[in-house]
Amino acid sequence: MNRPHPFPMEQAANAEAMASKIKELERRCGILQETVRMQGRFADIAGILSSAVDLPKLASSLLNGVFAATQLFAGMFLLRDAAGGFPIIESRGVTLGPGGLGCIQDLADRAAGSRDIVTQDCIGAGDIALSCADPDNTLSPARMLAAVSCHYEGAVNSVLVFAAASPISLEALSFINALSKNVGLSVNNALSYETIKKTTEELNSERNKLNAVMYNMADGLLVTDMAGAIVRVNRACLEMFGYGKENMAGRSVESVFGPAMRELVEHGIVTGKRDAISREIEIPGNRTAKALATPLVHEAINTSSGAYIGVVILIRDITREKEVDRMKTDFLATVSHELRTPLTSILGFARIIKKKLRETVLPRISEDEGTVQGAVRQVSDNIEIIVSEGQRLTSLINDVLDLAKMEAGKHEWHMTSLTVAEVIDRAVSATAALVEQKELALSLEVEASLPHVTGDRDRLIQVLINLISNAVKFTDAGSITCGARYKDGVIVVSVRDTGIGIAAADHVTIFDKFKQVGDTLTNKPQGTGLGLPICREIISSHSGTIWAQSEPGKGSEFFFTLPVHQALTDSRAQQGAA
Ligand code: ADP
Repeated sequence: MNRPHPFPMEQAANAEAMASKIKELERRCGILQETVRMQGRFADIAGILSSAVDLPKLASSLLNGVFAATQLFAGMFLLRDAAGGFPIIESRGVTLGPGGLGCIQDLADRAAGSRDIVTQDCIGAGDIALSCADPDNTLSPARMLAAVSCHYEGAVNSVLVFAAASPISLEALSFINALSKNVGLSVNNALSYETIKKTTEELNSERNKLNAVMYNMADGLLVTDMAGAIVRVNRACLEMFGYGKENMAGRSVESVFGPAMRELVEHGIVTGKRDAISREIEIPGNRTAKALATPLVHEAINTSSGAYIGVVILIRDITREKEVDRMKTDFLATVSHELRTPLTSILGFARIIKKKLRETVLPRISEDEGTVQGAVRQVSDNIEIIVSEGQRLTSLINDVLDLAKMEAGKHEWHMTSLTVAEVIDRAVSATAALVEQKELALSLEVEASLPHVTGDRDRLIQVLINLISNAVKFTDAGSITCGARYKDGVIVVSVRDTGIGIAAADHVTIFDKFKQVGDTLTNKPQGTGLGLPICREIISSHSGTIWAQSEPGKGSEFFFTLPVHQALTDSRAQQGAA
């Protein structure tokens, strides 16, 4: 007997369809859940990528993220190097045999040439094994490889490679592919960060070395800003002024190092030229130092005040040198003094002999005594040389004695009120013949109604005569300009020429005794090398400064300043304000 079907046929068919729909729904639900899970993982990894700046950490987090989101547990991160190769930066769960590396490199090259993920079957390759995540860490051969390249601004910078013991699911492949789109930028950020870190470390190490060099220099070093505040000071400078290891940054130069240093800084700022200015300053313990101030120029900066960002001052204790120099001057002065008396007799008698020869001997020699006449002429010429060399020696001796007297503070100054214009006039008249001889043009640029100054007229004329004669001596063609102007409480007098010029390295040293620059052996100009040191002594005894600016081949300009009396300065300021 046929047992009746528990459900009618139609109902059974419906139930079956329902069951299959439920299965399909369950399957889709599973996919959806998996997709949501993967999206969650994707968001996690994206978060890591955006914040990671350390490349090995980034690579490790990346692989971990992919392993957590997929069934994969073996992968590598390869970074493109400068030669276009792909060295492995991070490797997880992969063991490479002898041919494994080549296989990975080929795959990386393929991935670099494609915008999509590339896969490779490697059944039987045996060179790439996977370390299974079981307690024994057994190895199983890889059966499938997948690689994807990561880009930044169109260029490949890295490749991700994954290996599996069975075919990699499509979901996993598309997950890796999607992820790779975010990796390129993060890798670039991490590389930039590494470069910045390395550069910063290098810069820091260079700065530390430089600081050590500056701090331990035997000479003092002081750097100020444009306002005269201390930016940097080294140990030698602090010790010279009797300080310990105090922090002086930000304090005013004057409050720490006194008015002389402030003046030097101001001078460097005011002149605003790249030339160095040197000055002797008194330092504690009755010692003397030489300070050389140079405006600090920053080529990359060009503000309204130009590229000047401060002043750098080098300070050397020259007490010992000064002492030796003084002894040398004393010795020279003594010797010169001893030479002067016999030299006066030599010159005097030479002049008498010359006169007697010309007036008494020569007229008595008859024309037929040709040989005698010739000999007497020769003697007369030789005596001429004795006289001119004797005069040169006398002027050298006078210069040495003058300088020694001034340096020892024994010179008597005849200070009166005078105008710079009259000093210039007198010096110009005295040198007119020299200027004319060389067919040079001399012009004046003297400001009208300059205030009076207090000074030793003859000595100031001597300074200008020396500067103009030097200008004539070292100029073959062109012109000489003598100027005077008022500026910030001083009168600045200048002598400019269009002559041979002076190299920057000699702008300061030419004021040293016996310093003559250029080829003094083959092309020795007349002179003693004492003119400028005497000028410097005279000007500093007038509380002024003297310096040179020059460029070889373009001419030179010598400047000196003379302070204007304070009362006059005030009245002039009032005139200006009115
Ligand atoms: P000198 O008696 O040799 O002129 P100075 O002390 O006056 O001695 O000058 C020193 C040196 O400075 C000169 O020998 C010369 O080399 C250089 N000098 C001075 N003035 C000028 C100038 N106007 N142009 C070029 N060089 C100069």
